[in-house]
Amino acid sequence: MDTGAGRGRGGAGGAGREPREGWERWLPGEGWEAVAPGVFRRRLPGWDETVGLVASPGGLLLVDAGPSREAAGAWGAGLPPGGVTRLVVTHPHFDHLLGAGAFPAAEAWGPAGLAAFLAAPGAADPAADGARHGLHPAAAAADLAAARERPWRAPSPGRGSRAVLDLGGGRAAVLADLGPAHSALDLAVLVPGTPPVVFCGDLVEESGEPQAGPDASPERWPAALDALLALGGPEARYVPGHGAVVGAAFVRAQREELAGRFGVPPRPGP
Ligand SMILES: [Zn+2]
Repeated sequence: MDTGAGRGRGGAGGAGREPREGWERWLPGEGWEAVAPGVFRRRLPGWDETVGLVASPGGLLLVDAGPSREAAGAWGAGLPPGGVTRLVVTHPHFDHLLGAGAFPAAEAWGPAGLAAFLAAPGAADPAADGARHGLHPAAAAADLAAARERPWRAPSPGRGSRAVLDLGGGRAAVLADLGPAHSALDLAVLVPGTPPVVFCGDLVEESGEPQAGPDASPERWPAALDALLALGGPEARYVPGHGAVVGAAFVRAQREELAGRFGVPPRPGP
């Protein structure tokens, strides 16, 4: 049996092995697309945002939480009860964040600075933005309050840092803090394996043009995609925040497109 030992990427030491056994008991129900062995994603109705799952013997790591606790009750209904033991939020936009309170038992991770942002989001308030996009204002505010209550963990010491979560059974997830770029706080998740999988958050969008709102840092976005490509490597499957799973060539093309759109000069040559 090919264990794939040593073939994972991401500089996570021994974290690049395949899950050996035991994750199959956490298989999600219908509506989840298999991206790699034990790695799944689901495109949610409404804004077409992605939520991801990484199965290991100890349970499920959930990537992003969707737009509300109510929505999470629907798409999460097929998950094994008590299965979600860890939650990672890629960035604090309403469609990825506001369902976080639906998983109160899960250890919650996000980009560095997320807890402080949620305490005082200012003009980038995810609940207000969600209400502008059609969420019930009071429900969105309550969802934000529930998300704010979570004890958030982040890669340390801060921006640019990585954290390696040992999920057990030879499986790991590497959290890479890559923001600001698409938002004030952007984090990607690498799941080493064959193939490696990278959950990109909205640093990559396939179903439409990447969205650069008032909280984006367009001048930094191409460099964040360089870091994303270095994280996953050429063989990885890149899961966008919105749209179909893509390869490294698509991410490279989107990097060039964004650099042109935002007038970022080419990198200096060697
Ligand atoms: Zn976003």
